[in-house]
Amino acid sequence: MKIVVRIVQFLFAAVFIFSGLAKCVDPAGTSIKVTEYLQYFGFGMLTDLSMGIAWLLCIVEFICGVNILLGHARHLTLVVSTLLLLLFTPLTLWLALTDAISECGCFGDAVHLTNWQTFGKNLILIVMLALLWTKSELMYRLMGRTFYVFYSYCALGLAVWLCWMGSWREPFIDFRPFTPGTNLKEAVMGEGQEQTTDSDSEWVCIYQRNGVRQEFSLDSLPDEAEGWEFVETIERHADGKVSDDRSKAEPKHIDFFVKTADGEVITDELLSRPGYTLLLLSHSLDKASQHDIDRIELLSEYAGDNDYGFLCLTARDEKQLERWKFNTGAEYPFVFTDASIIETMCRSNPAVMLLRDGVICWKTPLSRLDAEGLTSGKLNEQTSGDIEEINYHNRILLVLFLLFAPFFLFLLVEIVQFLHKQTLINNSKKMRKKIVAGNWKMNTTLQEGIALAEGLKEALAGKKVNCDVVVCTPFISVASVVKAVEGSVIGVGAEDCSAHEKGAYTGEVAANMIASTGAKYVILGHSERRQYHGENNELLVAKLQQALANGLTPIFCVGEVKEERVNGTYKEVIEGQMEALYTLSAEDFAKCVVAYEPVWAIGTGLTATSEQAEEVHAFIRASIAKKYDAAVADNTSILYGGSCKGSNAPELFAQPDIDGGLIGGAALKVDTFMPIIEAWK
Ligand code: PEP
Repeated sequence: MKIVVRIVQFLFAAVFIFSGLAKCVDPAGTSIKVTEYLQYFGFGMLTDLSMGIAWLLCIVEFICGVNILLGHARHLTLVVSTLLLLLFTPLTLWLALTDAISECGCFGDAVHLTNWQTFGKNLILIVMLALLWTKSELMYRLMGRTFYVFYSYCALGLAVWLCWMGSWREPFIDFRPFTPGTNLKEAVMGEGQEQTTDSDSEWVCIYQRNGVRQEFSLDSLPDEAEGWEFVETIERHADGKVSDDRSKAEPKHIDFFVKTADGEVITDELLSRPGYTLLLLSHSLDKASQHDIDRIELLSEYAGDNDYGFLCLTARDEKQLERWKFNTGAEYPFVFTDASIIETMCRSNPAVMLLRDGVICWKTPLSRLDAEGLTSGKLNEQTSGDIEEINYHNRILLVLFLLFAPFFLFLLVEIVQFLHKQTLINNSKKMRKKIVAGNWKMNTTLQEGIALAEGLKEALAGKKVNCDVVVCTPFISVASVVKAVEGSVIGVGAEDCSAHEKGAYTGEVAANMIASTGAKYVILGHSERRQYHGENNELLVAKLQQALANGLTPIFCVGEVKEERVNGTYKEVIEGQMEALYTLSAEDFAKCVVAYEPVWAIGTGLTATSEQAEEVHAFIRASIAKKYDAAVADNTSILYGGSCKGSNAPELFAQPDIDGGLIGGAALKVDTFMPIIEAWK
């Protein structure tokens, strides 16, 4: 399951990162889509916000992808991703059913999907998201918190920078067909063809409204204000078929046509014009910025002086045209095409494009045009009339570099830090004794105890054992078990001892009696003794002193009950129990072993997770270091106890602060005890 969740996590992240970035490089394109949606749904008054919405959408999508990749801020990221999918999936279904908007634009212009494909993609993403929701704890955390914060700032910086570049210039990476160097004449008409209206074939435009597509001849195009949306141009033959030559020209074919005010198609004439032609482009004259209007004057003068063609290519709208002429005093010629074609040619409004023999040399927002350079004859790349060289491959590589370089750098630093920490941990762990101790409790008769001890001795014989093995038995078995395991690696201990040295304490067993059997260990402060015999710190201090005075190693148990875990007081409880040990000198403390046994995990089958156990073990070690010093803490063996089995022992023992286990149920059979011992490889 873990592996499935992680594959899904990375795939989901890849889709969100890619679609976020594809839109970040061209926020103006995204804003055009947002405007289309707003207008369609009757929110036309909000179209001024469309660029802001576009920024927000693509940056949020990208950052969600980054968070999912790194496995951080999971809850918030899953909530935001769910909201995005809940908004867009019904929308894409509706688009697929009605074809109201020809393309949803989810990957910008980088990848074109049909509305049904987008809907299918979203359904797959929803299934993936559902899995991530239900199994979010299995998602992989690729980086620690500090590096995650650093990296998310880098990623946010990249997204904002790309949006910034694409908002005030042309897209940083341009996936549209009108890039510098494109031979428009070939791409529009196919080699050796003409886009005319007087042959046996006819160029027609496909428009759609309310999901219905309709063909229009170039001289009777519909009014976009009436809801018609341009889709593409095709060449229709007299027999009704679409030209084979045109389809052969795919994928180079570009939707483009130019008409005069009289409706005459002059695409061929324009693109076949020898020499330079400057096109002033505006998809909407009403919305064109008038800040740099004097540059247009300079441009048109320059064009006249140097025999350049100069035309303003705009969408046909008589009222807008009149207003523009009135406001700017424009006397240059106007030609017309569809607004969406102009938006595809150049994102800014107005923009300037230079053609040489039908080939695009460069295009630029009017505000960024070096008009003075052009008119004063001081030529630079833009004004020299050469084809501008924009290497989009290098730009893609740059974006990938900016995306992945900090990622791998932080990951590398984190791996180095982790390995360094691991070496330190291993070194300090090496210094400590590793112990697996069985606690038989009140489960074995004398004969059963001897048989169990002999069986264990046999199982261990000739084996390389990488930890100390101890069995703590009921009092009546201690002496016999010591005998039974003679000559083996097994150490023996009792499960308790008296707080008194000797005397009239009927039923009690003194530490020196235990030591007299040859036993070396004694469990003190086990939760069952605390619970059923009311053992407290005062009594346990006395027992500790007896044990140490008689050369026994105390295995001192601490641990919280369930309520204390739930109400979060477990650390204080454990610290309080440790106080009994802290009455000892550092020298005596160093002779003790600590066992952390969460009471809710003892004999219940509920094991603390390795993270929960490690947290408390590290806490205990830090507390010892505070009480004594780091060297004492580093040398103290801290065992884990509570439903420890062969299956979970390896993971528990791999934790930096867990030095072995105190085992109850699983210590009663050789077959279940041995795998725990063998967990120390
Ligand atoms: C114990 O009693 O010390 C103990 C850890 O028991 P179990 O392993 O059965 O949970």
